[in-house]
Amino acid sequence: MTRINKMTALMNPKWNGQFSCFDLVAKTDACTRSTVQIRDIEIGGSDFIVMAGPCAVESESQLLQTAEAVAKAGARILRGGAYKPRSSPYAFQGLGVEGLKLLHKAREATGLAIVTEAMSEEDVELIAEYADIMQVGTRSMENYALLEALGKCGRPVLLKRGMTATLEELLRSAQVIAMAGNSQIILCERGIRTFETATRNTLDIAAVPVLKAVSHLPVIVDPSHAAGVRSLVPVLSRAAVAVGADGLIVEVHPSPDQAMSDGNQSLTFGQFRRMMIDLQPYLDIEHDARQFRPQLLAVGGAD
Ligand code: PEP
Ligand code: MN
Repeated sequence: MTRINKMTALMNPKWNGQFSCFDLVAKTDACTRSTVQIRDIEIGGSDFIVMAGPCAVESESQLLQTAEAVAKAGARILRGGAYKPRSSPYAFQGLGVEGLKLLHKAREATGLAIVTEAMSEEDVELIAEYADIMQVGTRSMENYALLEALGKCGRPVLLKRGMTATLEELLRSAQVIAMAGNSQIILCERGIRTFETATRNTLDIAAVPVLKAVSHLPVIVDPSHAAGVRSLVPVLSRAAVAVGADGLIVEVHPSPDQAMSDGNQSLTFGQFRRMMIDLQPYLDIEHDARQFRPQLLAVGGAD
């Protein structure tokens, strides 16, 4: 490969060979960092971008209340599933197009951008009319028909890591989207399956600096699905800041105990507000430290 980047010397030698074949998403001398722009929001730039909202859109009042609360606390993007991939066929599957309309209303009311999941290539066109960012869930990371449709949808894509996927497989899926014509991709570490059962998934925190070292794409963390329990969300969010993530996607609900999905891991409005305040000093330290270690992301390196 001719496009091996200068950081290679600092990386685990295995990484370069492992990832450089995904040339549209791998870091190169020509492209060390890319950003995703949604109106005045730049993901992967100097700001830490927080996406927050309910797991699922349930009703107008639930969504609008949540949108207002998270916007006030500093979130820039509203999350909320209208099409829900549930582990159980008996669980709430989402409001579908009604949910999309409510997301649109929430955007009008608050100015927040919208991220929502597409599960099937057949829904991509419709969802793209409402969403600012198209989410690929963990269960869909290798749905190539969906990835290819998203490559042509004209919207940025938030690509979540499959719960049993390696980073190589995550970047392979990103390459599929990019090859189909869309390089506006944000990667998301959301926890993987391990032998540990105390948490819902295991947050692979090392995935963030590895991805930042080998790929130019922005990387965010989903502490909610990693933890499965709300008390761990603030501390995992701090960890995400410390390892150089570009942002978070966090579940928030007006009354988590009544949530139709993922209530255990959803923060209340107060908890979200406090988390955002508590994160600020960590963000300040990280911001200052970056100026003195521009090679921060070439971690791993020398033993
Ligand atoms: C979600 O964001 O609500 C979701 C279903 O996430 P994941 O695909 O990571 O489980
Ligand atoms: Mn969820």
